[in-house]
Amino acid sequence: MAERKTLLFGPVKSRRLGKSLGIEMVPKKVCTMNCIYCEVGKTTDLTLERKEYYPWDLIEKSILQAKELEDTFDVFTFTGSGEPSLNIHFEKAIALAKKIIKKPVAVLTNATLLHISSVRKALAEVDIVLPSLDAGTPETFKKINKPLPQIEFKSVVENLKKLREEMKGEMWLEVLFVKRLNDSEEELKALKSVIDYIKPHKVQLNTVVRPPAFEKAQPVSFEKLEKIAEFLGEKAEIIVHKKKLDKVTKTFKNLEKEKIKEKILNYIKRRPSTVEELSSALGIEKKLIKLFLIELVSEGTVKEKIHEEKTFYLA
Ligand code: SF4
Repeated sequence: MAERKTLLFGPVKSRRLGKSLGIEMVPKKVCTMNCIYCEVGKTTDLTLERKEYYPWDLIEKSILQAKELEDTFDVFTFTGSGEPSLNIHFEKAIALAKKIIKKPVAVLTNATLLHISSVRKALAEVDIVLPSLDAGTPETFKKINKPLPQIEFKSVVENLKKLREEMKGEMWLEVLFVKRLNDSEEELKALKSVIDYIKPHKVQLNTVVRPPAFEKAQPVSFEKLEKIAEFLGEKAEIIVHKKKLDKVTKTFKNLEKEKIKEKILNYIKRRPSTVEELSSALGIEKKLIKLFLIELVSEGTVKEKIHEEKTFYLA
């Protein structure tokens, strides 16, 4: 493999940070979690081991390069395609960046290593920490973020609170909503009480707008995000563009629709059925089955047949 010359990438335009020059601290998908919505793909190195994922020389050289590029960006950001605090040089890298770069320094983290006091101490010095927390309960945390079993939800919350108290800069907490996983009334209440406990400066609401690591991660609508923002209070802001999200939700709906139509077709290929039979076999409302059957009949893939005063559908 070719030797890396820099760990920098960008500057990229970021909705939250403006023009951001990024530094990657670990290779792609070295992470403590395997979030179902991760846009980088499934975690290939699920680990809690802190080590020299990149050597100090390369990190130092990259931060010095960032200093040279200072006129080209608004924020210098520790980010990438994994958890940056897993690199053993994380604390030292933050200290150097803060010392030489005049522009604000930001860190994106999944907050699972905040029990390490040196990590918290380093983060307490940066201008903006952007941790993510998508659940209000341990069960939902496991379902959405798939953390290593040693990582406890309660400890993540407690350490986020500790960090918030120790911070000199700001904490902007990101919450990503996944349809049917953390958007119910119950979940939102639990999430709100956790957020009220941590007291971040901002709560930034996001959803699945890029292809997720796991197919089951689906976006919530923009209208849903607006309702959630209202419920969470004045610190909450939506960080996705309405136009983009509307397009994404439409695509997901179409995909879902196609899958249901395929299920109906597969079932009636084996056995001509009535609307009632299809509804109970597939667990889908009769009203919906009827709508899909109308489409399938008009497409010519399904035929109706009356038998003993009942309407049957066959492929
Ligand atoms: S913490 Fe971030 S990098 Fe790790 S799996 Fe989740 S979204 Fe992906």
